[in-house]
Amino acid sequence: MSAEAQTAPPLEALLKIDFLIIGAGIAGLASAVALRRIGHRVTVLEKDDGSNQTSGGCRMPPNMSKILLNWGFEEELREISLIAEAMHLMIYESGEFIGTHRWTKEIIKEAGGSFMFTHHRDLLQLLKTIALSSGAEIRHNAEVVSIDSTGQTVTLANGDVLTADVVVGADGPDGISRRSILKDSNVDCETNSSLSGTVIYNTTIPAQSIYNDTDLAPLTEGEHAAYTWMGNGCNAMVFHIGGVDEFSFTLTAPGDAPEGSWAENVPITHLADALASTHCEPRLHKLGRLAANSSLTRIPLKKYEELKHWVHSSGRMLVIGEAAHPIPARSFQGSAMAVEDAAALAKLFLHLLNPDQISSFLWAFQDLRQERCEKVLRGELGNLDVISYPPGALQQARDDDMRAKHAAGKGALDSISEWDQNKGVFGYNAEDAADEWWIQWGILRERAKENGAPLGHPLNVRVEHLVH
Ligand SMILES: Cc1cc2nc3c(=O)[nH]c(=O)nc-3n(C[C@H](O)[C@H](O)[C@H](O)COP(=O)(O)OP(=O)(O)OC[C@H]3O[C@@H](n4cnc5c(N)ncnc54)[C@H](O)[C@@H]3O)c2cc1C
Repeated sequence: MSAEAQTAPPLEALLKIDFLIIGAGIAGLASAVALRRIGHRVTVLEKDDGSNQTSGGCRMPPNMSKILLNWGFEEELREISLIAEAMHLMIYESGEFIGTHRWTKEIIKEAGGSFMFTHHRDLLQLLKTIALSSGAEIRHNAEVVSIDSTGQTVTLANGDVLTADVVVGADGPDGISRRSILKDSNVDCETNSSLSGTVIYNTTIPAQSIYNDTDLAPLTEGEHAAYTWMGNGCNAMVFHIGGVDEFSFTLTAPGDAPEGSWAENVPITHLADALASTHCEPRLHKLGRLAANSSLTRIPLKKYEELKHWVHSSGRMLVIGEAAHPIPARSFQGSAMAVEDAAALAKLFLHLLNPDQISSFLWAFQDLRQERCEKVLRGELGNLDVISYPPGALQQARDDDMRAKHAAGKGALDSISEWDQNKGVFGYNAEDAADEWWIQWGILRERAKENGAPLGHPLNVRVEHLVH
């Protein structure tokens, strides 16, 4: 079945409006797909040239894959990804294996999606192809340099001025949209902190070179799994990605790096240097050497302040994805939160009947998504902590616990830190949550309006509902 046929929307909004989306990352492209499915007109503005050259793996947890599967892209997803079943945990310094965590059939069934590994570039390309074939316009080399006070008009670096009913800022944590919302909230400058001088290195390794190496070949045997090395302030992860026959290799290590971007490649020698600066086991050095002909990205691990408002005071501009709720690189849920945002946004704008609903739908989006994203972020920060404990009581307890669980045939991460919340995180259905919001609050609000209740400035639609 063609992508066009598959994206045929089940329902369309009665009032169709124009959306300008800033940024063709996963949040921007997934939103383009989701909004086109319900008939809205979409233009995506992306500053890069569309060559999409980065190397790196992307983990799609069930809460993300279930949305893409529900949109009808099972066949396309299978072509570019592998279904992952487990995560094996080892000690970074010695290579000692200490346990396995399986995403059991029960968890996956309950969650309603699969855990899939893919190439980030392939996922971006898939979303782009679907967005284009469903009628979205995507403009590359289209850097937005200003957003005016109406929140509806943007100016590009080439001087073009574009206006829409809604501007969606999906341009990442350091983009103009987040800055614009901060300025609108009278915050001059955001204080971001590097997470204890830590840098993420991201690359890929040809699978054949791993199969050919007797020390590394065991990493490719049996079920598809992510291999995680837990170290003193550092960690590493390797997993097989679908589509191209490659493995993703990510290293998190202490160090300093200038502001980096996923789109910017740095010399691959930085990876070997970073490995050499840690006390890693020999297989990690080998993996680093096997990446010698790949491209490498290097991103400082940063923690951003939580953005209080995701909606511009004009009520016509919104931030989503990492522009709204940055999540440290190397997290399991970065791309998932972007796709959940896209799904929730479209579910709300399916009900659009009047332009005067636009602003409250944008605030409803924040109301729906903010708590979920904060919860997931806390979990991811907890997970990062657990796999990077320095030597000491916590690290010892973690390792003893995992070894004991392994000996007892249990999952290594059961009840550790935030990992045991996996069911809640994986089981969440962003589309159902948006439907529930509509039934619980949206319909009531519409009835209140029909009965002549005045529309105030809805900082929080639930509060507004209670007030009216
Ligand atoms: C090229 C690239 C490769 C990545 N690779 C990986 C990876 O291998 N593994 C991983 O876990 N995560 C990766 N990420 C990060 C991951 O995509 C995000 O964490 C997550 O998907 C949410 O992203 P987002 O769409 O909100 O923002 P981002 O992914 O940051 O996308 C923002 C987009 O907006 C564009 N943009 C920024 N400013 C402007 C402007 N002024 N005008 C127009 N466009 C603008 C950027 O070029 C970018 O394409 C990558 C991101 C990018 C951009």
